[in-house]
Amino acid sequence: MNNSIYDFETPQNEPVKEYLKGSPERVELEKELNRQSSKSIEIPLIIGGKEVYTNDTGKVTMPHDHNHVLAIYHKAGEKEIKMAIEAAMEAHKLWADIHWTTRASILLKAADLITEKYRAMLNAATMLGQSKNIYQSEIDAVCETADFIRFNVTFASQIYKTQPISSFNQLNRMEYRALEGFVFAVSPFNFTSIASNLNLSPVMMGNTTIWKPATTAILSNYYLMKIFLEAGIPSGVINFLPGSGALIGKHVLASKDLAGIHFTGSNNTFNNLWKTVADNLHNYKSYPRLVGETGGKDFIFVHPSADFTEVATAAMSGAFEFQGQKCSAASRMYVPESLWPSVKEQMLSIYKSIKMGDVKEVGNFVNAVIDNASYENIKSYIDFAKESQDAEIVFGGKCDKSKGYFIEPTLILTTNPKFKSMEEEIFGPVLTVYVYQDQNLEEALNLCDTTSPYALTGAVFGKDRIAVSEICRRLSYTAGNFYINDKPTGAVVGKQPFGGARASGTNDKAGGEFNLIRWVSPRTVKETFLPATDIRYGYMKED
Ligand code: NAD
Repeated sequence: MNNSIYDFETPQNEPVKEYLKGSPERVELEKELNRQSSKSIEIPLIIGGKEVYTNDTGKVTMPHDHNHVLAIYHKAGEKEIKMAIEAAMEAHKLWADIHWTTRASILLKAADLITEKYRAMLNAATMLGQSKNIYQSEIDAVCETADFIRFNVTFASQIYKTQPISSFNQLNRMEYRALEGFVFAVSPFNFTSIASNLNLSPVMMGNTTIWKPATTAILSNYYLMKIFLEAGIPSGVINFLPGSGALIGKHVLASKDLAGIHFTGSNNTFNNLWKTVADNLHNYKSYPRLVGETGGKDFIFVHPSADFTEVATAAMSGAFEFQGQKCSAASRMYVPESLWPSVKEQMLSIYKSIKMGDVKEVGNFVNAVIDNASYENIKSYIDFAKESQDAEIVFGGKCDKSKGYFIEPTLILTTNPKFKSMEEEIFGPVLTVYVYQDQNLEEALNLCDTTSPYALTGAVFGKDRIAVSEICRRLSYTAGNFYINDKPTGAVVGKQPFGGARASGTNDKAGGEFNLIRWVSPRTVKETFLPATDIRYGYMKED
């Protein structure tokens, strides 16, 4: 046995490649986009390291060309869900006990496979399957996925070396056991990196997972699963179970061995999972850890001292990149009356330069929204605004799903600070602005704090640094990730650990030690060198 103590140093963030015309990465990516577009693959379940075909299938299509089938995937039934639970429990024995540096080395290999051998493959799958342009895919599928892995290894090493005090006649130790049972990892469609991390952070700490991927992200998630296996993650440590969330959730949550849920997705789904866990509480061996990052109604608050060009630039990229389908995307904005004409003019001019379309055409800033349900939901908010007395469409508003699910970046101006689209998460390219009178700053701050149940991200813009500090203090509970003079999106692992509170989740900060600590069940061990041989205390022996 090698008894060395290994301390993993803080890694560098994976550099974002530029994909300039003719660059090696661009040539390779274009080849891979063509390869993946010219065939349809079959995606099995992967349970205990084995491919399982159920013949109950669904289609994976391109959001920007919904008749184009990229893959056929197999759906889990009750039998496969039970097999996955058994496989995860069986693998737990090996994985929880193996030396943690072996787990780290396997995960670090996965990160290197992602950034080297499979960079183009994972990018192409994310671009085609989730309709991300090159940049949006690169920062997610490759860079953030690798960053999560590499930083988590460092954070794990810091957790493991944190030990209690020992003193004369005693040695105290903390053992960081994996949870007793398996973790249910339930991932959303919008970030390939989140899907990876929902599995790999519990896995780093010695846990095994049952992974329910989002149906609309199955292509990239399947490739991730294959990379995990190639990196050396043993059979059964991660079990890939596409299928109906309701069915898989029902059976997995009924297992006595459920030790935790690692979830990212909508508030509604997380609430349902939480309620089901509460109903099954009597049945579990341990209290399951519930870690969930959910929706947002992210804001930009503009102080009268702000620079209008900076505000307009942040609003356009913060609200419309990846079609506003980031949990952190700006979706409501408070602008003082004195700045609104120039902010509006600047936003309009940026809007006119934006191109929308297929991910393969590199000039497109905006692509399609994920699926028909999402398209119809977003369109219903735009239609509501068009018909309302309280709102007008400043730009955008056109929707067309004849080929792909395209919705123009849309700016709504409302006179009602509690307008529906100021309050509810839309998860699409829709930003609503409320213009406040400069002298009513305090009232506007109050509206910002109380209008939505969420508290994920928020940004304040202003040149008056004292005023900005006061706003930061006043809005203390409105966001888990707060930005000063920057857009509210684009958190980077290791730099801005991510998560929000209130209805936005449990705020366990993905990409940080706060998250990893949820996946261990520490055992404190005290050893006494010279055990007592007399029950009496000293003063009792006086007579
Ligand atoms: P969703 O809630 O519709 O789905 C998430 C996952 O839950 C999917 O895999 C789905 O199949 C599964 N699911 C649904 N019902 C289930 C059930 N009963 N049992 C088990 N699993 C079930 O979310 P989505 O549309 O994929 O993602 C968008 C949402 O995710 C938005 O609300 C967004 O804000 C949120 N999000 C939050 C963060 C964050 O860090 N806070 C990050 C990304 C996305």
